[in-house]
Amino acid sequence: MAESQVNHTGWKFVDTAGSSSRPVDRPLEILVIGGGFAGLNAVSELAGVEARIWLVDKRNHHVFQPLLYQVATAALSPADIGYPIRSVFRRRQDVHVIMDELIRIDLARKVAVFPGGEADFDYLVLACGATHGYFGREDWARFAPGLKTIEDALEIRSRILLAFEEAEMEADPDNRIADLTFVIVGGGPTGVEMAGALRQIATQALPNDFRNIDTKSSRVILIQSADRLLPTMPEDLSARALEDLLQMGVEVRLKSRVTEIGEGFVMIGDEKVNAGCIFWAAGVKGNPVAATLGVPLDKSGRVLVGPDLSLPGYPFAFAIGDIAAVTDPVSGNPVPGVAQGAIQMGRFVGKLIRDDIQGRFARDPRPVFHYRDKGQMATIGRSRAVAQIGRWHFAGFFAWLTWGLVHVLFLVGFRNRFAVLAQWIWDYVTFSKGARLITGNVRPHVRSHHGAYLIPVSTPVPEAPQDVSSPPG
Ligand SMILES: Cc1cc2nc3c(=O)[nH]c(=O)nc-3n(C[C@H](O)[C@H](O)[C@H](O)COP(=O)(O)OP(=O)(O)OC[C@H]3O[C@@H](n4cnc5c(N)ncnc54)[C@H](O)[C@@H]3O)c2cc1C
Repeated sequence: MAESQVNHTGWKFVDTAGSSSRPVDRPLEILVIGGGFAGLNAVSELAGVEARIWLVDKRNHHVFQPLLYQVATAALSPADIGYPIRSVFRRRQDVHVIMDELIRIDLARKVAVFPGGEADFDYLVLACGATHGYFGREDWARFAPGLKTIEDALEIRSRILLAFEEAEMEADPDNRIADLTFVIVGGGPTGVEMAGALRQIATQALPNDFRNIDTKSSRVILIQSADRLLPTMPEDLSARALEDLLQMGVEVRLKSRVTEIGEGFVMIGDEKVNAGCIFWAAGVKGNPVAATLGVPLDKSGRVLVGPDLSLPGYPFAFAIGDIAAVTDPVSGNPVPGVAQGAIQMGRFVGKLIRDDIQGRFARDPRPVFHYRDKGQMATIGRSRAVAQIGRWHFAGFFAWLTWGLVHVLFLVGFRNRFAVLAQWIWDYVTFSKGARLITGNVRPHVRSHHGAYLIPVSTPVPEAPQDVSSPPG
């Protein structure tokens, strides 16, 4: 291996020995970007390989995205679904976890560029996921946030809880109806789960907490452009999800398109709906770093990888998980952007790099990635879910139980599994949602005509009684 020509001065994580030049007999360097399902599984599979592994993520924690909506709807706390990446690999001396943000990749020079400098690599695994896609209307993001990170979930949670606070103080009936109208754009699993959870908050968790409003009267509108919900699932399960949501009081608009979104309103075709909260669950696009590679991307900005998940023309560089556009060679279908896809791609590429380092492909051709579809599930509400495992389709309580068990099983960290399970059991028994905190520097928007206040502004505030039993100071 030739000595690196890259000047590492000022770049913090290669120069661990305090020297800016690296020895000729340096170990192989494997750079993995992203500590999501794909990145974590690639690094796990590389255990025991003679190489130094750098796992870089712009956050210090892995996020279990399938349960983000539960943080957004106050059922779980952020720490229940996040796990420090450093802790995942605390027993692996070969793994260096770095918190930094990749800016771009120079494939010709085998260099990754970070704000503080450059890092060279022998193998590159890009596993930095996807981001929200607004179909060219990025200006809608301000009014209709999407759900991808813990920060997104907390923002959405604050907006939901704030909407109820504002409605409680609102005197004008039309404004109150608008405050209590929640619109979700996109009828895939996230949209369906959000819609169900919002109706549950409004009808089960909150009614006793408010005095001026009937939270049960909240409108939850789910907009879907296709003619059915959950379009990647079998039709009978789409129909069941629709039936369940309607029973729960969700207004579902199929074959409907959003034409405009602005401050407090959404246009569905020509119809204007005033809404206190609008959420985006309609589209994703590849991580922006994909565009820096100079390789072909699909129309969603994801990397079009080869059958071995490497970048065309660069056998040492791979893209896996949500950032990659992969067609399964057996079914001919695109591999879905789901956790199982990312996990399987991570394991495949980890093993492939290990075999490559051990010289296996000097004789044999590289293997081809094949996605094993283990099924799909979506939860709709309390005791309601739909599931497809192989040819088996089921719904209702058993599907909901299966959904819960599978999700707890795949959570990273024993504490998280225990905490989530305990929280769910508590919520099931008490009908409550524990994490109803409005965080961040936000305050309800009290309109000038807030005649609904029960305590008039002039009412004197009673003095707090003195506690004579406690010692002074
Ligand atoms: C709300 C929601 C619900 C979902 N529900 C389900 C479900 O029920 N079932 C299911 O199977 N799938 C579900 N998915 C999809 C599933 O979570 C994803 O397919 C999976 O997380 C993709 O894994 P990944 O490793 O490719 O990317 P991610 O998990 O997104 O991880 C990417 C990592 O890269 C890091 N990163 C990004 N950019 C940079 C950068 N420039 N520099 C450094 N680090 C960077 C991020 O911080 C992140 O940690 C859901 C997704 C969402 C958003």
